[in-house]
Amino acid sequence: MLKGTLAQSFLITGAPGIGKHTFGNELAKAVLCHEPTEDGCCGKCPSCAYFDAGTHPDIRRFEAPKGKKTIKIEDLRSGLIADEAVNPQISKNKVYIINADQLADVSQNLLLKSLEEPPKGVEFILLCSDQSKLLGTILSRVTVLSLHPYTSEEIEQILKRSGKDDASEEKIEFCAEFSSGIPGKALSLMEDEEFSQEREHIFELVMDMPKMSYTDILIDEVSYWNDNSDRTDELLLLLQWTLGDIATLLASASKGVLKNQDKKDKLISFLSDARGLTLINISNAVNAVTEFSKGLKVNVSYDAACSSMLLKIHKELKQ
Ligand SMILES: [Zn+2]
Repeated sequence: MLKGTLAQSFLITGAPGIGKHTFGNELAKAVLCHEPTEDGCCGKCPSCAYFDAGTHPDIRRFEAPKGKKTIKIEDLRSGLIADEAVNPQISKNKVYIINADQLADVSQNLLLKSLEEPPKGVEFILLCSDQSKLLGTILSRVTVLSLHPYTSEEIEQILKRSGKDDASEEKIEFCAEFSSGIPGKALSLMEDEEFSQEREHIFELVMDMPKMSYTDILIDEVSYWNDNSDRTDELLLLLQWTLGDIATLLASASKGVLKNQDKKDKLISFLSDARGLTLINISNAVNAVTEFSKGLKVNVSYDAACSSMLLKIHKELKQ
């Protein structure tokens, strides 16, 4: 793109945390660079230096003001529409980076003409995680670049390159796998103390489940889930992973590759205490987890659905 004819209106899409801002910035830096190569910006010219210092005069960013959900239309009028015809100062081009998740319909309409026929030397980079909120007329005027999730191995490399290589190999692997291929999520999981605690809690819950009383489950455990209900998706996935590890060990003895690889010894000792446990029990327990998450989508009471799931898992694991 940089060496050929560059489209002037880009829309970079992908899940939150996938790297839209990072990619949009690299693209902007390369577009502004005095001597870009196929790999992107040169990193040495005055334009690159201004860019790195955050003082490049030919790039403007449009975001909602703090605490607000949408970009002010006046900001677009004065900062973009009125600015388009002004020549760039130190680069051949100028770049507008717009957070398109924060564009109200009226602002999208305002941008239509600019996106369709951008003035010479003007580059639009729109970033968006939810394309369904954009008007069809916007989508038909931009070149869409979709960013897709990475493999777990790629995420591990990203984590190591981002200075997380002092963490344990197990933690890096676990967060990489848990991130569903989203680098931003993997990076925040690595630093999220609450996530580490949740992971321990859910793992221990499964390990202790056979010994737990109804009171432990219906009072203490249900209130834990209630207190953390904003993170239910994470808790459910952690629960599924731990149950999945038990199934892996049941099916292939000690040879299986586990999600909780660092807790293999504990899992093996759990299984040696639960000799009657079969794959059917685990499958039923996993079904209970799935039912709970389906129930939440149709607004079943959280307490009732959570209690029912935990009691079903208890019944299956108490073999
Ligand atoms: Zn440069």
